[in-house]
Amino acid sequence: MKVLLIEDEPGIARLIKRGMEDAGYSVEAAQDGATGLELAETNNYSIILLDLMLPHVDGWTICEELRRQRNRTPILMLTARDTIPDKIRGLDTGADDYLPKPFDFQELLARVRALLRRDKVNKVRVIRVADLEIDTAQHKVTRNGEVIGLSHREYELLEALAAHESQVLSREAIQERIWMNEESYSNTVDVYIRLLRKKIDAGHDIKLIHTVHGVGYTLRLPDSSSETMV
Ligand code: CA
Repeated sequence: MKVLLIEDEPGIARLIKRGMEDAGYSVEAAQDGATGLELAETNNYSIILLDLMLPHVDGWTICEELRRQRNRTPILMLTARDTIPDKIRGLDTGADDYLPKPFDFQELLARVRALLRRDKVNKVRVIRVADLEIDTAQHKVTRNGEVIGLSHREYELLEALAAHESQVLSREAIQERIWMNEESYSNTVDVYIRLLRKKIDAGHDIKLIHTVHGVGYTLRLPDSSSETMV
């Protein structure tokens, strides 16, 4: 288990590093935000322990940047700023958990274990809708046992729809989730839905991707309601 620790206070960093190593983790430490971000971008870690107030690049920015790059490594924020708005901001930027300083080291270890467990469950998760199977760990999609090759974006879109099976996702919600701050055109979502339909539904009697007119899209088994298919 490789841990990345981004913390600028040498005393705290040393303490955490030693404690984590005693608990059997291997720890790489960065003392400023820029180095931390670079390490996180270039190596695979099981978890990132992230201080907020850091030289060069702060913890929120690191977190945001990693999530923007679709880096899903669990992030535990460590911070002296124990205020509700800070906590919300941390979780909003994509952190998985938040631990105010000073903390009990045993609690840190327990939170790390909990995040690693959760990550493992997420990683083996397979979403099934009818005969469609999405292995979210391997990004592998099959329908009726046949492997379907999808581009990165197509996969992200399918996973978003499948994770909300039977719920309607608006174009805006999809746009924000898949394309975030990138520039995209107003019909990007529709174009990708069309591509996805060709791969997922074409040639199958049972269609799974449905248009909800004026609202958005949903993935589910067809029912007897009057929603029309495009
Ligand atoms: Ca700090």
